[in-house]
Amino acid sequence: MAALDQEALIAEMTAWRRDLHAHPEFGFEEKRTAAFVATQLRAFGLDEVVEGVGGTGVVATLRRGSGNRAIALRADMDALRITEQASHGHVSQNPGVMHACGHDGHTAMLLGAARMLASEGGFDGTVRFIFQPAEEWGKGALAMLDDGLMTRFPFDEIFGLHNMPGLPLGHFETRPGPIMSAEDNFEIVLRGVGGHAARPHLGREVLVAACAVVTNLQTIVSRRLSPADISVVSVTELITDGTRNALPGFARILGDARSFRPEVSAAIEKQMRIIAEGTALTYNCTVEVTYTREFVPLVNDVDATAAAVDAATSVFAPGAVKGKGEIVTASEDFARFLDHVPGCFAYIGNGESSAPLHNPSFDFNDAALIHGARFHAAIVRHRLPEG
Ligand SMILES: [Zn+2]
Ligand SMILES: [Zn+2]
Repeated sequence: MAALDQEALIAEMTAWRRDLHAHPEFGFEEKRTAAFVATQLRAFGLDEVVEGVGGTGVVATLRRGSGNRAIALRADMDALRITEQASHGHVSQNPGVMHACGHDGHTAMLLGAARMLASEGGFDGTVRFIFQPAEEWGKGALAMLDDGLMTRFPFDEIFGLHNMPGLPLGHFETRPGPIMSAEDNFEIVLRGVGGHAARPHLGREVLVAACAVVTNLQTIVSRRLSPADISVVSVTELITDGTRNALPGFARILGDARSFRPEVSAAIEKQMRIIAEGTALTYNCTVEVTYTREFVPLVNDVDATAAAVDAATSVFAPGAVKGKGEIVTASEDFARFLDHVPGCFAYIGNGESSAPLHNPSFDFNDAALIHGARFHAAIVRHRLPEG
């Protein structure tokens, strides 16, 4: 089959990306986005396009030849509750919601890959195009899996891309093994007896206790876990019911912990409970710890990562592919798919002058779209070779 006109494809992907950017939708509310995706996929002539998988997810299937292997490519569609600060022509039309993580670009470049593979072929087997909802919540991939993704649309391997601010345009980076962390959330509630700021001895105020808990939590990573394990424990909020001249009887500490192995996550929770209970006892108040696991660690398969690096080398410029990149202590819902099949998650450059992810002036770099689309097509042809 004839190759698609690349300039025309770039223009199309740019138009899709800007349309999606102007109409961002929060997790599990991606109705317009999902309808847009499904309409485009049907126009490309894919074999099957199914909407409503795991809420607002879309799965499309493309078959060529007689091969029985299947490769999945995944993009995320959700936006964030952030008010955009931009003056470009595709600024968010949905107040308080914006594509600050570039999922508009991920969706557009996977649509571009679907268009390319549907028109050019060049592979033997089945491709599943997965457009997932609610990545930012860490709930969308599980919702699709719970809705029978693996039995309704089986596949052997999965690949996904995320844009990376600071990584030069046209660059590709991944690594075998752990690449992104687990995310756990915690809440520590202290209760005592509040009272007059002038007479602390008559009550059991909790602010000094809460400050001690925050300080003691710093010893989990520095003194209780192996220095060989990468982890982060961050307290992000401390809220009390005190006012300027009244001591609080209630304090709530909130935070976030990152790690790369389930054993480390379990150790953080255990040490946190010991510290919270011991500190509460010292300060004569009661404590309650709630610890939840929101994202699992993202661990790339060694073979799938080697294949991704090979495929990337065929489409990116010499020297622009890094196969042993850095570990990132952010989290990604893509990890849930890797509980079922091997795969690889990788980054493509959003440019050195890009605003950071989740920043109100972030914008996906349209010049990266063709790189993402070409990588997606290349990994399919590499893993499902003809002949
Ligand atoms: Zn994000
Ligand atoms: Zn993201």
